[in-house]
Amino acid sequence: MNAFLSVRDLSVRFSTEDGTVRAVDGLSFTLERGRTLGIVGESGSGKSVTNLAVLGLHDPRTTEIRGEILLDGQEMTGAPESVLEKLRGNKAAMIFQDSLTALSPYYTVGRQIAEPYRKHTGASRREARLRAVEMLRRVGIPQPELRVDDYPHQFSGGMRQRAMIAMALVCDPELLIADEPTTALDVTVQAQILDLLGELQQETGAAIILITHDLGVVAGTVDDLLVMYAGRAVEQGPVREVLRAPRHPYTWGLLGSMPRLAASVDEPLTPIPGTPPSLLAPPPGCPFHPRCGYVSEVGGDRCRTERPGLPPGRGAACHLSEERQRSVFAEQIRPR
Ligand code: SF4
Ligand code: MG
Repeated sequence: MNAFLSVRDLSVRFSTEDGTVRAVDGLSFTLERGRTLGIVGESGSGKSVTNLAVLGLHDPRTTEIRGEILLDGQEMTGAPESVLEKLRGNKAAMIFQDSLTALSPYYTVGRQIAEPYRKHTGASRREARLRAVEMLRRVGIPQPELRVDDYPHQFSGGMRQRAMIAMALVCDPELLIADEPTTALDVTVQAQILDLLGELQQETGAAIILITHDLGVVAGTVDDLLVMYAGRAVEQGPVREVLRAPRHPYTWGLLGSMPRLAASVDEPLTPIPGTPPSLLAPPPGCPFHPRCGYVSEVGGDRCRTERPGLPPGRGAACHLSEERQRSVFAEQIRPR
């Protein structure tokens, strides 16, 4: 049986004045209904690009997409715009990071929630307005029958994020993609929004992709985790296993530079030295090798010349032996 969302060997390339950017390179993953997949990585790692591709949102004139993206059996790559338009907002919807730019300042919140509903269901204005009120209530906006006529600037940041979730969910999508949905919010509101997403998922059975650069956000929220670096997946598995015993040197670095999981608050954070590579000319071999402290342990030129594959299921794209991946973390990284 096919997964609800199946991405196979996806590559996304942009033509720019400076050359071709390999934004995503050979990415594969699957997602079932009712499950949440976290995609983590630094900015520019390909997280957002991947998910724009899932929704068919790239400009075909400047973007070359290869591989397969099957959403409930529908091939999304190369699908005509008429097909994509029916799916977007309806079967799959996106929550963006910044509610101030994603919501138009010129229309009421209610109208922006009602509009996609009318478009996809053919509901009347009156019906769509009632639906907007119901959605605002579902996402926890107090007095929704009054607030429905407010403009976005009359909402707090947390309320705007709730309104965006209402907008994304108004047509009962089966896939919800949340791109850094809590980044602009303070910690308490972040937790409320993540809880809300979880509750809505319980109600609707939707599949969720949560994109974030913050491992702290995924810990209590997602089922499975995909770690991306330089356009490639470097580690994947059930979130508890990845966080308890990460196997890829890049994931070790991410964990080391994460305040909330650091061993002690008094210890300095260990950021990953160096910067991510240019995707105009990604390094050959393992894309992490210019920053990795284990190249000499692997030996020879292997890390610099041979691209490590990512095993399906639980695993890391790294030439260190699986045994060594386990023991390095247990003995050298965790105890610090
Ligand atoms: Fe480091 Fe080599 Fe593993 Fe890449 S393959 S993460 S360079 S040890
Ligand atoms: Mg992004």
